Amino acid sequence: MGKQSFKTFGLGPKVRKGLAEAGYESPRPIQAKAIAPILEGRDLLGLAQTGTGKTAAFLVPLLERLSRRRASGPRLVVLAPTRELATQIHAEAERLGRYTGLRAALVVGGVPTGPQSKALAARPELVVATPGRLLDLLNKERADLGRVEAVVLDEADHMLELGFLPAIRELLEALPAKRQTLFFSATLPHEVRALAERFLSSPHRVELAPNAPAAGVEHALCAVRAKDKLRLLTEVLGERGFEKGIVFLRTKQRARELARDLDEAGHRCTALHGDLTQRQRDEALGGFREGRYDVLVATDLAARGLDVAGVSHVVNYDVPGTAETYTHRLGRTGRGEAVGKALTFVTHADRELVAELEAALGEPLPRRRMRDFAGEGDAPRPAGAGRRGAARRGRARGGAAARRARASWRQRARARRGGRRGWSSRWRT
Ligand code: AMP
Repeated sequence: MGKQSFKTFGLGPKVRKGLAEAGYESPRPIQAKAIAPILEGRDLLGLAQTGTGKTAAFLVPLLERLSRRRASGPRLVVLAPTRELATQIHAEAERLGRYTGLRAALVVGGVPTGPQSKALAARPELVVATPGRLLDLLNKERADLGRVEAVVLDEADHMLELGFLPAIRELLEALPAKRQTLFFSATLPHEVRALAERFLSSPHRVELAPNAPAAGVEHALCAVRAKDKLRLLTEVLGERGFEKGIVFLRTKQRARELARDLDEAGHRCTALHGDLTQRQRDEALGGFREGRYDVLVATDLAARGLDVAGVSHVVNYDVPGTAETYTHRLGRTGRGEAVGKALTFVTHADRELVAELEAALGEPLPRRRMRDFAGEGDAPRPAGAGRRGAARRGRARGGAAARRARASWRQRARARRGGRRGWSSRWRT
């Protein structure tokens, strides 16, 4: 199938120039599906994970619409769950909108309000914000949202998880009733559906492989004893093809400790979690982005929406609690059309979580064996992998039957991978 071109959308020269400078030659699938209906002014419900190009999917048509008519003051509001994601969207708006003459303000929590009030007083056409801070400034009458033409909720599911529902409702109620409304969400829990029913009018629905990690990510589970996790991680960080990695842990405390251990072991490593000040978070992320650090140790705060180029590996040092978190964590690598690897460390104690994860994802996850790490009984078995279990049990006994079982498991695994060598199968979308 030939690649579609941005030309087919009838975009004006200003937006086309921004796209060309960004190096975007052909639209990503989400863009191919969403740009035309947004250009027509339709409401839209987009089910897409991060890393698919959804930011440009809404920015390109909205910048085009706004640039066709001159008027100052907030005309487009984009709401995002975290400061980091809002900062990224703002940067993308400035990049793609450079030649449109439209100005964008960033309004996020955790930093003083003064400069943001000042930026709003200059009447920018775009406001990219986290909901709490924008509502705060609206209530103080520092933001005038009376002429907004379009509003985008990005990562709606995550915003609701973070407790932004009341702020979002209040903001949406404060906007002019006649406007275009777009929701993007990786998942569609009941609360998002209810919000969409209330605020979207006959939305065009666009869906991209919900709940599946990005197509370019090779992923696998790796059995390990809890006490050997650090040693296994050190091996992964040293393996061929490793360029830059994000390591996810469940708690801030564990993230802090691991970052310290890695630092002591000589890795160029930094941590990103909720206990840091905004300045520390910016430093960590900036350093990782610019290559001063190769390893970012993070809690799930960093799992959503972050766009750092060249992340070759994601390591789930702790198994994520839900399939959504798994998908979001994996979305940090294999971004766009790049290929990435994701490895989830699993101990015997994780077997229930792993079973739940596989049930939610709808298929068993590939296993990767690392010599010397998986103790007998430590690796949770995939559902229905009886022979593999036999191979493991037999290996402990070291018999000929065990060798046969092992060989047949390998053969089947290889056949499943379509003869590909390496340690996992590519996710099917
Ligand atoms: P997003 O899902 O919006 O975070 O986008 C993921 C990555 O894809 C970002 O690094 C974008 O710069 C990049 N990207 C988005 N659209 C395109 C495109 N049409 N061509 C090339 N890269 C793109």
